[in-house]
Amino acid sequence: MASSLSKQLHFLLIPLMSQSHIIPLTYFAKLLALHGLTVSIITTPLNAQRYKSIVTHALISNLKIQLIPLHFPSQEVGLPQGCENLDTLTSLELFKDFFLASEMMQEPLEKLIQGLKPKPSCIISTSPLIWTQEVANKFKIPRYIFQTVSCFTLYCSHILNLTKIQDNFVLDSDSFVIPNVPHKIEFTKGQTLNGTIKKQSQDMQSIIDKINQSQDLARGILINTFEELEPWYVDAYKKVLNKVFCVGPVSLCNKEMVEMVDRGNKASIDVHSNCLNWLDSMKPKSVIYACFGSLSRISSLQMKEIGLGLVSSNFPFIWIIRELNFTLEVEKWLRDENFEEKVKGRGMIIRGWAPQVLILSHPSVGGFLTHCGWNSTLEGISCGVPMITFPLFAEQFYNEKFIVNILKIGIRVGVEVSINSWNEEKNGVLVNMYQVKKVIDQPMDKGLEGEEIRKRAKELAHMSKKTIQEEGSSYLNIKLLIEDVMQLLKDKEGEANNVAKTM
Ligand code: UDP
Repeated sequence: MASSLSKQLHFLLIPLMSQSHIIPLTYFAKLLALHGLTVSIITTPLNAQRYKSIVTHALISNLKIQLIPLHFPSQEVGLPQGCENLDTLTSLELFKDFFLASEMMQEPLEKLIQGLKPKPSCIISTSPLIWTQEVANKFKIPRYIFQTVSCFTLYCSHILNLTKIQDNFVLDSDSFVIPNVPHKIEFTKGQTLNGTIKKQSQDMQSIIDKINQSQDLARGILINTFEELEPWYVDAYKKVLNKVFCVGPVSLCNKEMVEMVDRGNKASIDVHSNCLNWLDSMKPKSVIYACFGSLSRISSLQMKEIGLGLVSSNFPFIWIIRELNFTLEVEKWLRDENFEEKVKGRGMIIRGWAPQVLILSHPSVGGFLTHCGWNSTLEGISCGVPMITFPLFAEQFYNEKFIVNILKIGIRVGVEVSINSWNEEKNGVLVNMYQVKKVIDQPMDKGLEGEEIRKRAKELAHMSKKTIQEEGSSYLNIKLLIEDVMQLLKDKEGEANNVAKTM
């Protein structure tokens, strides 16, 4: 598989310090390393520690992957000690400081690159790390952007930026249809990226504008999707930007159970074994897995409605409550309700972090109540699990429309407006327990609609697995990317030889 030339290549991967960027980029590192090249993942010391085991597994398989920690100046910018990942941020103020601290990694990175051997051949970084483009320019190597959203989202955002159609409307609830796409996709103003970001702050909007502008400077765009999943949108987006490579679903790089378990946060061994034993005891495709990602902050009132909805649905469930959503109020409510005792044998709560891909790939799981983060969406697709969509903010509404209207493998709970993720208690209740119960029953029941959703989900999962196998579309796109880098290196060498000859 590996040519002698590719063995000389050294790719630097730099993810934004967030679960939804580090997890897919470390998986992508594995897919690249399978082609024989050296891959270094640059991140902060605490994140390097968190993701160490992923690299350890790769090393066992003789893949040349290393994690290089770089100082993260959290205290210099006033962040609390240990705050090195977006999942630990508690306010919008800290969010701005976090971006400032990440920009301050530029100088140490440049110093590091000077000493790296073999010399880096390219930088692949996720889109918010704009400053990595300057580093690439300085060392005259190409930078590729790794996108953690779908082509559908990228293309719809492009259309909205171009037409500014949303500016014709006043209210967040005003709705319109996205022009120039083959599907009828209706958005409300408040669900568009502009709408949900403005809700967070004006500063966030200016960060997003800068990120969009920096796209044109990159050599190419790598997208964690696969061509067969969204062919029209991939083709359309390829006409917008040069060199688009669909390289996913990257989570399928993991074959062994231990590889699926280790992903950034440690769920305790007890959680794994309890959870797996429990799933083993359930009927095939009977369990609802409810998880809202690594960043979402949901109000206590909404948490209660989700809990009550799960209980009244009569299906077995695993409900993940991340630490920040586990408020004193939620804890007290669970205790007062005697919740866990009541659902014993039928429902399980995991506090903190769950081995998501491991759970989704278990044959007992039949539905995924999801916040529609793109990684979660793609993981649900790859595992063939129908989805119950509960978007909260950012591009999650785009993913919901993609799942429900285009792929037709899910049903919406009915969230109409995005939340302000920094002030969750103000958001109150977006959907009540009856809405939650109703949609869980729908894709899970034996009716025709549920049957068709399950059939399509299964077909897509089958399709997704083929793409990363040898000669699959994503596998071939990774090869094209490597060839692109090699060609640039050859061109550079040729230019240097010509200069030498003329001297
Ligand atoms: N994740 C996980 N366990 C959890 C919560 C999340 O493994 O308990 C992983 C999930 O599998 C996905 C990532 O964290 O890979 C979350 O990314 P996504 O884009 O879905 O959402 P975000 O966290 O950015 O909202």
